[in-house]
Amino acid sequence: MPVYDYACSCGTRFELMVPSWSSPAPACPDCGATTARRPPSPAMRGRAAPPPSMSAAPKSWEGVNRGDRDTITHWRRTVEARRDFEERHPEHREQRDAVAAHEGRFERKPLTYRELAARAGTGGDATQAAAEASRERRTGAPQAPS
Ligand SMILES: [Zn+2]
Repeated sequence: MPVYDYACSCGTRFELMVPSWSSPAPACPDCGATTARRPPSPAMRGRAAPPPSMSAAPKSWEGVNRGDRDTITHWRRTVEARRDFEERHPEHREQRDAVAAHEGRFERKPLTYRELAARAGTGGDATQAAAEASRERRTGAPQAPS
């Protein structure tokens, strides 16, 4: 089944898998208005689904298994894949890399919101995520599981 891009006049954009080209456009998930199918971008045709958007990242420290290294690595790679995808397809860009901290321990490798989000999500546990990022910079690498 094909995946199409839809846009609503309220500004919402989303992708949906539909049975066929002739399937009716779905209602906007945000406001309920009728949406319009956007023309497929040539680069997207025949491609696998794009990487998950940042909003798919865990929203809490528990969501990354309380800092489990493999889980964080998975999300970091997901975020990196998404960033590469957005560079190739600027129309899908969600947010720029904003620097959250660049002083002290973060001088050599600034802490970005993207990294924070990859660690813990933008809500709730950003402080803990920042502490973790700081700890890793001090030791040079994430602690190996014991
Ligand atoms: Zn809408």
